[in-house]
Amino acid sequence: MDLNQNYLTQLHQKLDTNIENLRPYAEDNQVPIVDKLTLDMIKQLIRMNHTKNILEIGTAIGYSSMQFSSVANDIHVTTIERNEDMIALARNYFHQYGYNEQIRLIEGNALETYQQVNDREYDMIFIDAAKAQSKKFFELYTPLLRKGGIVVTDNVLYHGFVSNIDIVRSRNVRQMVKKVQQYNQWLMEQSGYTTNFLNIDDGLAISIKGE
Ligand code: SAH
Ligand code: MG
Repeated sequence: MDLNQNYLTQLHQKLDTNIENLRPYAEDNQVPIVDKLTLDMIKQLIRMNHTKNILEIGTAIGYSSMQFSSVANDIHVTTIERNEDMIALARNYFHQYGYNEQIRLIEGNALETYQQVNDREYDMIFIDAAKAQSKKFFELYTPLLRKGGIVVTDNVLYHGFVSNIDIVRSRNVRQMVKKVQQYNQWLMEQSGYTTNFLNIDDGLAISIKGE
């Protein structure tokens, strides 16, 4: 890890909540939960933009949805997950950490769950599921985002491969990385949105929906 990033991650440890206890489990089991500085940035966006309703694509074990909910009691997260093992773990953690009231878990493929989440307008959409499908998720769900709302896309630099695709040997990974490159380019060109990209952790895109 980059020295500056390492330093800031250490510095940030005093902000940790008990939810942070899930990180070692995630790391040991190859569950790709959001990195710490990225999380810190997103929590700050939540505070700055009066975010109350969040839609998350990709729950995994529920780490990020609990972290977002921990910012304030009146934040509500709707989160979508298709993997049954993850769903079971997430439900268990929501119960254990006391987030059942704030988090609604929708089970299924996020390309097919629009009807289950279109009962409200969202202030933020966090796209963090299958990386080759980010554009589809964006197109499907951003009609539910309020003006001035924010789309946050995680892993836009995917393992450093996005800026250096030549090092990727696997054909499948290459295909996926190409999709991420296309998505980033496409995102930049969306006239209804202003996007900036952050070179922290695995790369983060922040897109503000125009007024
Ligand atoms: N947001 C979580 C990490 C999510 S990891 C955190 O930071 O804590 C990505 C998750 O997206 C995986 O659990 C995977 O099963 C799920 N996923 C991938 N594609 C999906 C899809 N099309 N529909 C629903 N879930 C999906
Ligand atoms: Mg991620």
